[in-house]
Amino acid sequence: MQNVKPKKHLGQHFLTDLSIAERIAAAVKGHEGVSKVLEIGPGMGVLTDFLLEGKLDLYLIDIDTESITYLNQKYPQLRDKIIEGDFLKYDFSAVFPEKYAIAGNFPYNISSQIFFKVLEDKNKVTEVVCMLQKEVAQRIASPKGNKDYGILSVFLQAYYDIEYLFSVPPGVFNPPPKVNSGVIRLTRNQVEKLDCNEKLFFQVVKGGFGNRRKTLRNSLKSFNLTEEFKTHPILDKRAEQLDVADFVFLTQEIEKGRGAH
Ligand code: SAH
Repeated sequence: MQNVKPKKHLGQHFLTDLSIAERIAAAVKGHEGVSKVLEIGPGMGVLTDFLLEGKLDLYLIDIDTESITYLNQKYPQLRDKIIEGDFLKYDFSAVFPEKYAIAGNFPYNISSQIFFKVLEDKNKVTEVVCMLQKEVAQRIASPKGNKDYGILSVFLQAYYDIEYLFSVPPGVFNPPPKVNSGVIRLTRNQVEKLDCNEKLFFQVVKGGFGNRRKTLRNSLKSFNLTEEFKTHPILDKRAEQLDVADFVFLTQEIEKGRGAH
C-alpha cells in the first residue's frame, strides 16, 4: 500500500508515535455502555489500529479519497463502515440512530466546527476523545475566570464533563504542525435540557463574550433587561467570570424581561 501524501489544506498531520496513538485509543471509555465509535479523520489508520483492539463497533469518516482508498485496503473488515465524506456536512442519522462516541486526531483547522456539530447531536454523542491544537483543547477544558475561557467552553461544559488528558509535541507528526497538541475527553453529563430557554442561552453567551472586556451590563445591552434586574451585581461581571449555572441564571432573568415586552 502506498502511503498517503499529506495534504496541508486537509489539515493532514499523520501521527508517527504509536504509544501516543495507543494512549488516545485507551482513553475511550465506552461511557453509558456505548460501543459504536466514529473516528473522524483516520488518515492512514494509526489510531484506528488501537481502536480496533478495543471491543468497539468502529466507523470511519475521512474527506480524503486517497486516505479512503488506503483504509479500504487496510481494513477490508470495515468496508461497509468506511465513509468518504465531510464530517461537517454528513448526515449521520441513518448510520447512528442511537448513541455513539467520537474519537480522532482532528483536522485542527476545523476543530471548533466539529464541536458545534457535536453540540447539535449532543443527545446522541456520549463521549468525545480527541487530539487538537493545544490552545483549543485548553480553552474547551478551561474553568471560568481563565483568559482561555470562551463561548465554546461554556457551550460544551453545559452538556459535557471535560478533562484535559495530556499534551503532545509537534515532532511526533509527519509533517510536524506549527502548534503543540492536546488530548481531551468529553463525557456527556446528565443534563438533558438546561433550566432556561436554550436558544436564548446560546445568544446570551455569545452576546456576553462579544466584547470580553466589557461588563455584562454593557455587552448585553441589546437584550431587554427588567428595571429590577438592571442593578443586579452579576451584571458588573465580565462573561469570562461566569460558569454555566451563572449563564443559566442570567438567561432566566433576560427571559423575564422578554416576557414584559
Ligand atoms: N488520524 C490520523 C490523521 C490525522 S490528520 C493520524 O493521527 O495520523 C486529519 C485527518 O482528517 C486527515 O486524514 C484528513 O483527510 C481528515 N479530514 C480533514 N477534513 C475532514 C473533514 N471535513 N471530514 C472528515 N475528515 C477530514
